[in-house]
Parts: sequence; structure tokens; C-alpha cells
Amino acid sequence: MLPVTTALEALRRARRIAVFTGAGMSAESGIPTFRDRMTGLWAQTDPMEVATPQAFRADPQWVWDWHVHVAAAVTLARPNPGHRAIAALATGGRRVDVITQNIDGLHQAAGSGGVVELHGNLFRLKPFIDEEAAFAAAEAPVICGVCDGYAAWDDCDPYATREDFAELRLAPGPVPRCPGCGALLRPDVVWFNEMLDPAVLDAAMAAVDACDVLLCIGSSLEVEPAASLPWRALRRGVPVLEINPQPTALSAQALSLRGRAAEILPELLASIAGR
Ligand SMILES: [Zn+2]
Repeated sequence: MLPVTTALEALRRARRIAVFTGAGMSAESGIPTFRDRMTGLWAQTDPMEVATPQAFRADPQWVWDWHVHVAAAVTLARPNPGHRAIAALATGGRRVDVITQNIDGLHQAAGSGGVVELHGNLFRLKPFIDEEAAFAAAEAPVICGVCDGYAAWDDCDPYATREDFAELRLAPGPVPRCPGCGALLRPDVVWFNEMLDPAVLDAAMAAVDACDVLLCIGSSLEVEPAASLPWRALRRGVPVLEINPQPTALSAQALSLRGRAAEILPELLASIAGR
């Protein structure tokens, strides 16, 4: 394990810090992980069955309603002191790139800018692209100017705008459609059986490749390819600090602080600011 003094000194001197956060970060704000079953009406629903493109193709309203239920819990959550400590790290000319597996927007709510959201954002919508249908169509699809999904020219409303699209929200009711092409809309999150957006993954790797220190917080490091990011930094000889209640595969290689981010991060920040 990396000695404490070495890690803190590296953190204090760093001009560019990458912070990688997982579900544990949000759990401390009371948000159940995406993989957890919900309570009440949705207690019997397995997230791995409902949060998939296959489920949306078969029953869009069921999948939409489940996300509305998830969003109700997420909307009540507030950033915790850990989120705020990460936002506060970006002072004195220090750049902080936050890379998160969370979809709740709490880093932004705490004041972090330019957050790389590996698994998307629950409150942003995008068109459901049914590639099977698009490529089975007789005519080649075009890109809708309102939602960036596939459309047929005949279907598009020439007067619809991106502003009309931006007003649509994840809310109870029928699944909304793109005002331009009529495509069904879905939350802009990475579902089970879906790949990460390559551009977003590239942005995450670029941030890791440019950092002087990497903080890895509240991730069990079990979901690839995100779990590889800390090792990418270690291979470059960059110090890695881990904050997690349980040990992970990374713990032996990093300065591993065992506990809650909401408690440890503010202390860590005070210790590097006070020297
Ligand atoms: Zn559209």
C-alpha cells in the first residue's frame, strides 16, 4: 500500500486530479444503487429485466414508469459532504475531472463542472433507437435534427426545434415522443446489455491519462470497463487513493482509506489545505 504521507503530499501538489466515483458515493445521499430492487409497487421487478433495450422495445410504458419511480427517490437526494469536498478540491488553479458511474447529477448539484457521466444521466432524455427496425427499413434512415435519432424524412415535423425537445422531462404519464420525428424517448442512461458511449469513455480515459493523482471513491470496481480506470493510472505510476467501506481488488495497490466518503473526504481536504 502507498504510504499515507506520500499520497497526501501527491494530492497536495497535484495540479490535476481525476476523481472516479461509484454507487457508494450516491448511497451516502440515500440513493439506492441502480441494481437494487425498489420498494412498494416495484419490489418484485428485477432491474436487470426492466432496464434493458429489449424490455423497452417490448413494453416502453413499463420501462418508462419504472424509471419515473427510480427518479422519485433520486429527486429527493441532496449532495453529501463528500460531493461538496470534491467540488471544493477545484480551487487554487487545481483542475479536477470527476468521472462517475452515477446517473443522479449530484456532483453537478454540489458544484463540480465538466463531470464525465459514464452511465449517463437519469434526467436527460434521448431517442430510443431501434437499430433492428432502422436497418430493416426499405429506405436508409436520416438523422433527426431535433433528437439526433434515426428518422424518415416523411415523419419529421419541419417546425419542431431542439428547444421543444429540451422541455420534455422524465415524469409520470405516457412515454413522450420526439417533437421532430416522433421517436419514443427514454432516459439517457446506459442500460444492462448496452455499451458505454465510446466518446464518454474516451473522455474518462483522457482525464485519467492527464491526472497527477487519482481518487477512487465508493466503487466496488466490478463493472468494466470503468473498473479498469484506476489501473490505467497505476500503470503510469500515478498515486491512487481509494476511499471505500470494504476492501477491493485495488486496495493493495493504492492508499486505501476504509470508511464513508462523506466523512473521510472533508477530513482529507482539510489535511491537505492545512499544510
Ligand atoms: Zn427526433
